[in-house]
Amino acid sequence: MKPKFQAVTGMHDILPDDFKYYEKIYQIAGEIAEFYNFNRIETPILEYSDLFVKSTGAATDIVQKQMYSLKTRGGDSLTLRPEGTPSIARAYLEHGMANWPQPVRLWYYGPCFRHEKPQAGRYRQFWQLGFEVIGHSGAIIDAQIIQICGNILKELKIKDTIIELNSIGDLMCRPHYRKLLASYLRSRESALCADCKRRIKENPLRILDCKEEKCQVVKSQAPQIMDHLCQECKTHFKEVLEYLEEVNLPYRLNPYLVRGLDYYTRTVFEICQEDKDGQAQASLAGGGRYDGLIKILGGKETPATGAALGIDRIVTAAKQADIKVGETKKVKVFLAQLGNLGKKKSLKLFEDMRRAGVSAAESFDRDSLKSQLKIADKYGAKYTLLLGQKEALEGTVILRNMESGKQESLKLDTAVAEIKKRIRK
Ligand code: AMP
Repeated sequence: MKPKFQAVTGMHDILPDDFKYYEKIYQIAGEIAEFYNFNRIETPILEYSDLFVKSTGAATDIVQKQMYSLKTRGGDSLTLRPEGTPSIARAYLEHGMANWPQPVRLWYYGPCFRHEKPQAGRYRQFWQLGFEVIGHSGAIIDAQIIQICGNILKELKIKDTIIELNSIGDLMCRPHYRKLLASYLRSRESALCADCKRRIKENPLRILDCKEEKCQVVKSQAPQIMDHLCQECKTHFKEVLEYLEEVNLPYRLNPYLVRGLDYYTRTVFEICQEDKDGQAQASLAGGGRYDGLIKILGGKETPATGAALGIDRIVTAAKQADIKVGETKKVKVFLAQLGNLGKKKSLKLFEDMRRAGVSAAESFDRDSLKSQLKIADKYGAKYTLLLGQKEALEGTVILRNMESGKQESLKLDTAVAEIKKRIRK
């Protein structure tokens, strides 16, 4: 029988075995962030809804269909963040980061919320890890962001990934392309799905990444933005590609990749896993340049670029590939106890070891010595301390060398200091 209460549809618990993967990814991201000089930032999970309407874009699926919004008692309209970038841009402006040495390089790791149709790899609460560089327009930073995402996946030994790449132009060239595309789409309107019919007016570029069977032919004959980029965007994109080649990162141009959000300019990319036939699966990471966002939110024109990795999907990929993380903890000393009095003294002795910085483990839930010694073996303990009824009465403890089996008696008061000496050897 199912328990009465279940987790909310589309939201999942992360159980200890899986959490090891989340921790590992956090650790790798932290090391990489430090090397590339990114500072950790944490923003609130709730933001004013307007932030996402303005930055993510009123015509996007996220804002139209997927936001978890609520009205507070005070009448404010708040939204659980569906992505990280708008919050970072808000924080950049709110804390005057434009006056910090530029570019500002920030990274984050936390949950996001989207009311999507739950399915494999698509949750309503999921975890993202992101990198943002605000205040630099160079193509080298776009390439570095892609390289960083690739490096995180590589460090985790996730294989068969491919970088898909496109440029969606800037405010100079995109409006012209958008018009051209919209007029083409209008001429083919009857062949589009219901959602795309609506998108022609609101967000025609989004049609390019529609997955509906019906829209595929129309898409394949649509004008491509690559042929309509202005000179500056063309040069910028060419440079991104050259940098990627320079660091031997294979990529595939995808003219249909638009990433659906309003704030992107120029470079957009996704990293996907490929199936056996070389078909890209759901993306593990995605991002791009967003030179217009800071201005949209009321700041000065400020170039920026960034990316987010989907941690839940990366964890699934790592598990599918049988990648192991979080080896069983190894300790130097295992504390075994016998009898009531032995158990009583053990709690303090164990605490003394923690304070003295001795790596130790216990199993107070066991009573039999045999089963405790088995656990000591699992921990790979070099020494086991045996504290029984007799020792507790005498104020001693037995130290057993697990390799040689040799045993000696130590005074309980000085046992921790003595052990520290032994394990230093
Ligand atoms: P996006 O900005 O939507 O491309 O999100 C960046 C990354 O987050 C994606 O590449 C996915 O790996 C992950 N992601 C996005 N939406 C979800 C979701 N609903 N459930 C799980 N992961 C997601």
